[in-house]
Amino acid sequence: MNTAIRPLPMRSYHFDNLAHIERLEIVVNDPVFHLLAAQLPPIGTTTKPAATSTAGFLFVGVATVVYGGDDRATAELRAHWTSFIRILRNAGIPAPSQPLTAQHFRDFRDKFLVRKFGSVAAANDVLKAALRAAALGQARDLGLLHGHDWTVADSTNGWFDVPRERVLIADGTWFYEMYEKTPPDMNQRKKKRKNKRAGSKRQIRLTRSKVGVRRTTPDADYQGKAHGYSHAILSVRGDDRHRSIVLDLARCPKGHEMGVVTESLVRLRNRLPNEDMAFVYDGAMRGKHHKQLREELGLLTINEAPGHDGRAYRQYEGTQVPKSSTRLRDLAFTTSSGETCMQRVEVLAGQMFRTEASALRGRRQRQQPLDHVAVRRFESDGTYRWEVDVEFTCTTHHEVHRATIDPNATMGGIALAEQLCAVPPNHERFRALYGVRNFAESLNQYLKGTIMHTERARSTNGHRHELDLIFAMLTSNAIAWAEHGSSRYAALPGR
Ligand SMILES: [Zn+2]
Repeated sequence: MNTAIRPLPMRSYHFDNLAHIERLEIVVNDPVFHLLAAQLPPIGTTTKPAATSTAGFLFVGVATVVYGGDDRATAELRAHWTSFIRILRNAGIPAPSQPLTAQHFRDFRDKFLVRKFGSVAAANDVLKAALRAAALGQARDLGLLHGHDWTVADSTNGWFDVPRERVLIADGTWFYEMYEKTPPDMNQRKKKRKNKRAGSKRQIRLTRSKVGVRRTTPDADYQGKAHGYSHAILSVRGDDRHRSIVLDLARCPKGHEMGVVTESLVRLRNRLPNEDMAFVYDGAMRGKHHKQLREELGLLTINEAPGHDGRAYRQYEGTQVPKSSTRLRDLAFTTSSGETCMQRVEVLAGQMFRTEASALRGRRQRQQPLDHVAVRRFESDGTYRWEVDVEFTCTTHHEVHRATIDPNATMGGIALAEQLCAVPPNHERFRALYGVRNFAESLNQYLKGTIMHTERARSTNGHRHELDLIFAMLTSNAIAWAEHGSSRYAALPGR
């Protein structure tokens, strides 16, 4: 890391309400920012002198993102240029006496980077690799991923208590392409479409603009009603506000998120010691994904059962099992005297409901779901085997019966990995663990609202948009690290 950076001249920041210029100041003083700049070739050393250094051009790129647009950035840089000269020079970045503009960055991106790397995409890959590696260090500085005071050790209940700092979160997010037609546009022209919010009623502008250039971007992704650029964001957070780090960013062509997320998790897992971690995903996780992530990566996956939300189980308790149910199976428990006590269970809404024959026309009635009392993981040869203990209080034998099941097994044709949640919705910890996913959504909103400023891509193709997102990830992590991770900041008066 760049040790030449002098301490910030500012006293401290109000992290709940940062000015844009303060965000930029934090970024140019962020060691990861300088690490990123060092991944790119120096500029202006062989031909005519450039206006600033590679880091200086990257700074302008970050400014176009933080200010939400090229014109806006150009105006703000011009208006506050004397301040920016001080901020840049303090961070060892050459600042010309004339203000830098967004055009400087566009030339840097579209000419310099393309000449050096062949494409913006190739430069993005280099930057993303550096960001990923740096994000792990930032996460550690924030006390994330590497919990020091928590060991699963021999505690049989440890997996239910996995702390939030070790719960990985993935979420996909769409940015609509720059020239997509939005509902407000439609309102003006056709006086219909009341739905102003993004998502359900968006329409794609497939017409040509007045100058005859097709305004949809050629590399945008389509999926259902979504249209634009889809990225999966992997992150981790702690309990306090803003204590969060974006760990990875990956484009999901055509919105195929889970495959991209899996690759991202594999990359991350290869760089981490064998920590005990959980993974929450707000999206469709099929049985094969649960199985792969549990068995190959040793991650405790937490999700709702497909087709049910986390509270659905409540409506089933005490109801009759329909005759058409194909989800009834027999599960053997052993009593304390060694007898077998068979129970017929229905795998439903992520849990196992014990059922009892009712007097009524031979139908069965659902009882309470079985309690999940322990989750265990065993490692051998780099793969993992899991066990879940389930139990209930048997009124025939007057005791608690327990059975151990393999949550990745198939039970008479039912893939438990998909249908049975290891941490089931009725468990007291389910809300706390699964609820972490709300953070992923709020992180997306934060990126869109605070750094990217819009749900619409502000650059004209997928690779340029991804570079914007890279800057957003850099900015978000730099601010979190400045607030929580850096002793330099923590030592400032007033904190
Ligand atoms: Zn019994």
